[in-house]
Amino acid sequence: MILMVAEHANGKLSKSVYEMTEAARTLQREGPITLLVLGKEVSKAAAEAALLADQVLVGDLPALAEYDAEVWAAAIAQIAQEGEAHTILMSATRSGRECSPRVAVKCDAALMEDAISLSVVGDALEAERYTFLTRVTERVRARGPVTVVTIKPGAFTPAKPNGSAAEQYDVELTLPERRLNVTQRMTEKSERIALAEADSVVAGGRGVGTPEAFAELVEGLADQLGAGVAATRAVVDAGWRPYAEQVGQTGKTVQPKIYWALGISGAVQHLSGMGKSKMIIAINKDAEAPIFKDTDYGIVGDLKEIVPALIRELKTTA
Ligand SMILES: Cc1cc2nc3c(=O)[nH]c(=O)nc-3n(C[C@H](O)[C@H](O)[C@H](O)COP(=O)(O)OP(=O)(O)OC[C@H]3O[C@@H](n4cnc5c(N)ncnc54)[C@H](O)[C@@H]3O)c2cc1C
Repeated sequence: MILMVAEHANGKLSKSVYEMTEAARTLQREGPITLLVLGKEVSKAAAEAALLADQVLVGDLPALAEYDAEVWAAAIAQIAQEGEAHTILMSATRSGRECSPRVAVKCDAALMEDAISLSVVGDALEAERYTFLTRVTERVRARGPVTVVTIKPGAFTPAKPNGSAAEQYDVELTLPERRLNVTQRMTEKSERIALAEADSVVAGGRGVGTPEAFAELVEGLADQLGAGVAATRAVVDAGWRPYAEQVGQTGKTVQPKIYWALGISGAVQHLSGMGKSKMIIAINKDAEAPIFKDTDYGIVGDLKEIVPALIRELKTTA
């Protein structure tokens, strides 16, 4: 079987699970596509998972209330071994990166990290991934009975849910003692949707001019649209915005339904992180800017005039 590990929060699966499912479906490998949902009181996430996978395995235990790499890895490896999984898919998120090597060791499996594509070639699994500061894309092949793959968020189009729900099965787990405990959690107060989860993204480049203009225009438009906020590396390097918002080869990969590019020239390194967006709308005062080669709708003009007008219009129609 293909075993996928579901990341979820507040009863909802993360977008990366949908993307991982798409990767699993295109593989068409032997056995059911299985989603493993671990945690405490996870019935909502498991019900959502049942619309994506061929079967859902649920480990719903108080001991799983808080994520812990050691405990999670033990649970995943146990289920992978009992179900004779040949492919184990996890998200290349912080927790996926932390947990996947442990799973690979326990299952004596090859590990392919940060896959941006995945296919079967003969009896091997082949992935593409960026390397050398993302200047090089390399192809790696894993042979052997079991392979663990982490999937780069944003690299695959999210899968559509199935029409009917798959069966869910509770699993019995033998878990190790937890050695780490989270003693405090400080949550950043933000109403804004996380970049990886957003259906629309408003991104700003150097052409926005200043950090103040970024807050007013890029965040202002994002607020009206309920969108995530992104930035180019030029903006992040200038210290206007945090690295977490950088999109591109050395930042995040996103694939929203709509990507607004404000004052962004369209360098290949930026395009590689957002070029698969369903619709790209660009505002740039330079009609020759490379971004226009990749946009569905392009507005040639000064964003400092156009964006405030857009925000005003959206406020009146809200
Ligand atoms: C190894 C490597 C990795 C990199 N990784 C990344 C990455 O992950 N992400 C990334 O973004 N970049 C990355 N870069 C940098 C990339 O090459 C570009 O330098 C960067 O994307 C440019 O950012 P920008 O579009 O904001 O700025 P610029 O290229 O300076 O473009 C600014 C644009 O704003 C327009 N403009 C100016 N004023 C206005 C106005 N008033 N109204 C409308 N338009 C206006 C200009 O016409 C111009 O097109 C990487 C580079 C290297 C070498």
